[in-house]
Amino acid sequence: MIIHLYGGHVMTMVKQRIHQLTVPTPFAVGDVHIYLLEGDALTLIDAGVETEEAWSVFCEQLKEIGYTPEEIEHVVLTHHHPDHMGLIDRFSRAHTLAAHPRVEPWLSRDEGFFQRYERFFEALYEQSGVPDRYKRFLKGLRKPLAYSSPGEMTHYLREGDTLPGHEKWRVIETPGHAQSHISFYHNESGELLAGDHLLEHISPNPLLEPPLKSGDKRPRPLLDYRHSLKKLKDYNLTTIYPGHGNTFTYSDTLIHSRLKKQEERAEKVRQLLLAGSMTAFEVCEQLFPKHIDSQFGLTMSETIGQLDYLQSLDLVSSSLINEQEYYYVN
Ligand SMILES: [Zn+2]
Repeated sequence: MIIHLYGGHVMTMVKQRIHQLTVPTPFAVGDVHIYLLEGDALTLIDAGVETEEAWSVFCEQLKEIGYTPEEIEHVVLTHHHPDHMGLIDRFSRAHTLAAHPRVEPWLSRDEGFFQRYERFFEALYEQSGVPDRYKRFLKGLRKPLAYSSPGEMTHYLREGDTLPGHEKWRVIETPGHAQSHISFYHNESGELLAGDHLLEHISPNPLLEPPLKSGDKRPRPLLDYRHSLKKLKDYNLTTIYPGHGNTFTYSDTLIHSRLKKQEERAEKVRQLLLAGSMTAFEVCEQLFPKHIDSQFGLTMSETIGQLDYLQSLDLVSSSLINEQEYYYVN
């Protein structure tokens, strides 16, 4: 609460304050930010990673700004990745857990969903020509769960919804990096709590995910990501509070350069395919010779994303030969 005095009149105005807390993660991405929002409710935006180290760093920083974990009332998630939803079950008095509906199966630990998730990647890798020696990665799909926590979602957040307890903050759906990804826009100040949608130092990977219902077509995460990036130009954005890295000032130039970089990588893929038709795995090997072994899932997602993009422009087509999908230049 801030009180301004103007010529004897007392004007009271509630200022929504944002505090940034930063905790370590065991992942390559490094530290992750958690935001504490003051308003009609005390709200956390994202919840770091489930490690004792992250919890103690979080508690220390919370204390420095004058709060205790028992005072947190709402927890809101930008997306379902483990570095953003780890500590959710540590807040004994929190009564609201809100996120996009697609976060639900990760919170409820829906076994049927996980099995479908694994079968989806098995089939996709088979069709993408992935040799057996890389299939060990399929076994690791559930590993990140160790760093997140189960929880019971109380509110679904969708495009245009208001953040509970913070009526000036609106939900913008920003799928791409994750199908569950949402960002929060303050409709007066232009601030954006961006999760991993827009980072200053790196471009997030649009990750492959199974379709919502089995039998449906799989999402095209890179196309979704491009759409969600362009969508930001419709808002009067000012300060971007990201999930990782520096807080920064928004500019359309950043969006353009991210889109351009991706288009350049797609052109590289098209050039590779001029030599002859290839499976997604063969493209991935040539595109990421140094990283394919250590970051198999990420590099395959990126490669298939570029192929989806080229197909959407009708520059590349594919056909199934012996149940494997071969891509070729039109
Ligand atoms: Zn992240």
